[in-house]
Formats: sequence, C-alpha cells, structure tokens
Amino acid sequence: MKRTARIAIHEGNVAMMTACEEHRDPDEEPPPPAMVAGVVCTPSYPSCSADEAFSNAGAAEAWSDWHWQIQNRIRSTAALKQRFPALQVSGGMAAAKRRFPLAITPYYASLIRALDVSDPVFAMSIPDEREPCDPPFLRDDPLAEDRDMPVPGLIHRYGDRALLFATSMCSAYCRHCTRKRVAGQREVVVTRQHLARAIEYLSLHPEIHDVIISGGDPFTMATSALERVLKAVRSVRSVEIIRIGTRTPVVLPMRITNELVQMLRRYHPVYINVHFNHPVELTPEAEAACERLADAGIPLGNQTVLLRGVNDNAPLLADLFRKLVRVRVRPYYLFQCDLVRGVEHFRTPLSKGIEIMEYLRGRLSGLAIPTFVVDAPYGGGKIPLLPNYVVSRSPTHTVLRNFSGDLVSYPEPQSELSVYNEAPAALPDGSIWSLACGHQSHINQRSCILQDMHSTPGPASGN
Ligand code: SF4
Repeated sequence: MKRTARIAIHEGNVAMMTACEEHRDPDEEPPPPAMVAGVVCTPSYPSCSADEAFSNAGAAEAWSDWHWQIQNRIRSTAALKQRFPALQVSGGMAAAKRRFPLAITPYYASLIRALDVSDPVFAMSIPDEREPCDPPFLRDDPLAEDRDMPVPGLIHRYGDRALLFATSMCSAYCRHCTRKRVAGQREVVVTRQHLARAIEYLSLHPEIHDVIISGGDPFTMATSALERVLKAVRSVRSVEIIRIGTRTPVVLPMRITNELVQMLRRYHPVYINVHFNHPVELTPEAEAACERLADAGIPLGNQTVLLRGVNDNAPLLADLFRKLVRVRVRPYYLFQCDLVRGVEHFRTPLSKGIEIMEYLRGRLSGLAIPTFVVDAPYGGGKIPLLPNYVVSRSPTHTVLRNFSGDLVSYPEPQSELSVYNEAPAALPDGSIWSLACGHQSHINQRSCILQDMHSTPGPASGN
C-alpha cells in the first residue's frame, strides 16, 4: 500500500521531514500466511519444518527479492503468532508493540532459534514487556539530536561533520534503537524540498567535509531515491566524504544488489557503517552482502551496541569482531546502550564494557578491536572509555600496565627534563615508585623478575 501524505513524524525537528511515500501501516494485517511462513535456511542454521515448506523455485526467488522481504515484514503480534505458533503473546508484549513499532523481515525472523530472550535475534527484535518500564533519566531523544538541527533533518553538532536523515524507515526495528522517536513511527523519506534546504546549508558551511546519511535505514529507499540524495550531497564541493549508516546487511542482505553497489561507487569516497551485534547475524548471506560492498571499494566499519543478555560476553564479542574482520568489516565502535526510553533492560554497567575491552586487548589484533564509547547524554558527544593502563606518573617516567598485568616504566625524553640526570634516591625494588622514578624498567606480573636500572638510566629498551 502506498499513498502520498504530508505528515509530521515527531514534534521535534525531525518532524519537519515530510512524507512523500508511506509504506504499510504498522497495524495492518500481515500478508498471506504462505508468504510469511516462507524461510530459506542457511547451512549454518538447520532447517525447520515451516522453512521446508518454502522450497519451490518461485518461492526461493521471492525470498531473495528484497522488495518481497519488505512487503512481507512481520508487523503485528498477530503476524508474529502466525509465524511462530508456539509464541506466547502476553499483554506486556502487545503493549510494548503499541509503544514502539514492530517490523522483522522474514529473513531476519528465520534466524530466531528460541522463542524467548535467550535468543539474541528474538531479544533484539520482538517487543518486550519490560520496555515500558522507564527510569526517569531515560529520554526520547537522549543525544539531543533535535536540538542540533539547523535545518529540518540535518544534524550539525561537530564542526566538520553533519548527519542527514534520509528516511525514517527501517526494514526491521531494533528494540534497542536510539532513534525510536523517529524510526518507524511513520515510514517516510526526505522530501525534495527538505533535501534542498539541507544542501543549501551544507553549501553555506564549507567547514563540513563529512556527511553521514542515516535515518532510519537509507538502504530501505529505492535506489533511484537514494541516488538523488547522494547526488545532491556530492554536488556540494566542500563535502569530501559520504558515510552511510545501515543495518541492511544484517536484516536484509539481499538488498545489497549489484544495482545498488554500482550506484554507490559513482559517489566515492563512500564509507559504510553496518551494525552487527552478534555472531549469529553473520550468516553466509550477510557475509556475501558485506563482500559485495567491499568489492566496490567501500570501506566498511561496524558499530556494535552492548546489550545485556545479548552480547555482554567478552568471548562472544571477540568471536564477532574476528569474523567481521574476515569479511573486511572493521570493528569501529562498541557502544554503551544509550539512555533512550524502552531500553533499560538492555543496559549494562559501564564496567562491563571496560571489562570486555580488557579481555579483547592482547587476544585480538588491534584491527579487530573497536573503541568502546559512551554517547554522552544531552549531546555531549562520544566519549571513549578504556581500561586504565596508566598506573602512575612522575616527572621522569610513566608506569604503564600491559594486557597481562605486567608493569613497565616508560621514560620521558631526556631533552625535556632537567631533573632526569639527577642521582636517583634509594627506593625499594618492586614498588610502583621505583618504576615511576626509573629505578626499574618493569615488573613482570607472572615471573616477578625485576630489572634493575640503577646502572643503565634511560629508555627501557630491551626489557
Ligand atoms: S536499523 Fe538503526 S535506525 Fe533502524 S531501528 Fe535499528 S538501530 Fe534504529
């Protein structure tokens, strides 16, 4: 169902993005059961009986057609029940669905292996009765994005970057989404009029070199509509880099068609950030989608959101990050869950993320380790958090801790320090201060072998 409408999607500035095309009504009944039930399982996900029904050639063709996947999204609790007859649809689940939209592509639904929150895909996509239980510090717009919109649909917070809302539609709505106030409340794309205003703003602000096209998910747009946006942004001479944020390779990998990829490569340099949260999402289809993008010369980064009960597990994330690198996706950010309404049950203590980073360092190549960040409330920007590797400082030396707990003394450049050549005072070996003053080069946590530097002041080379 399509119709032309002119609507406000939210009372904030994003609401100024008006509709030129609206898709299926969220409460509309799902398509015919035969279509919804169809599932093609990948070799890593064994077939179930409903999936086997979806075996004839025509159905398989439909399955790999992204339009079919969008048209056949699960959008109501009735459709959920139809797809998963054993599912218990509680009143709480229905209330959560009324509050935040529900959409799951048949493909993504096919990855569900258990009908409860122990299943990561279930937890990330099925309405949860805990969603309406909000502590007072949660917000609709926790990052104050609406405040930083100089023109409708364009966020300009950092000097050299801007973010353009191209659509409010996603093919699947994540229960942990930061932009619940926008994503899926109405499914609309940016109008020509608002795109023109955004381009005018970019032209008047040549300090903006990097434009992120986001939403919603821009890859839910028709290729021609997305190209119109890319072409307009690329027409601004001062824009050097275009980035696109998308979860499509995860929830709708068949959308990464050759037609889309050929179009994207006309607007290089284009970077894409994808959003894998769990290794089960890295199916052969998803990997192939990433590889099609990488083959088009598009650098791929990944943004993972740390979610309680889904991926707050260091070995699991190590597995995810290692697998991402294998398909040429660089783990970019590990996000602390934002303070958005409806996500309290997903939030982890900050210490959990730091503990995970501690685990990753020394086990994974630096290429596979993302930066753990908190997107600060009230628009404070991204704040990286790291385990504390600086144990102590003195004017001459800094004491550092490595991933296995060894302590090393790192000397400052001698040219900087008049006190450097002063005779060291006597200090007990094995103390932090003996490292900080350069008396010792390191303390090995495992063997406790102490290197005496009294006779060799200077850089701790060879230790
Ligand atoms: S794909 Fe992105 S914008 Fe859409 S619901 Fe998920 S997190 Fe939100």
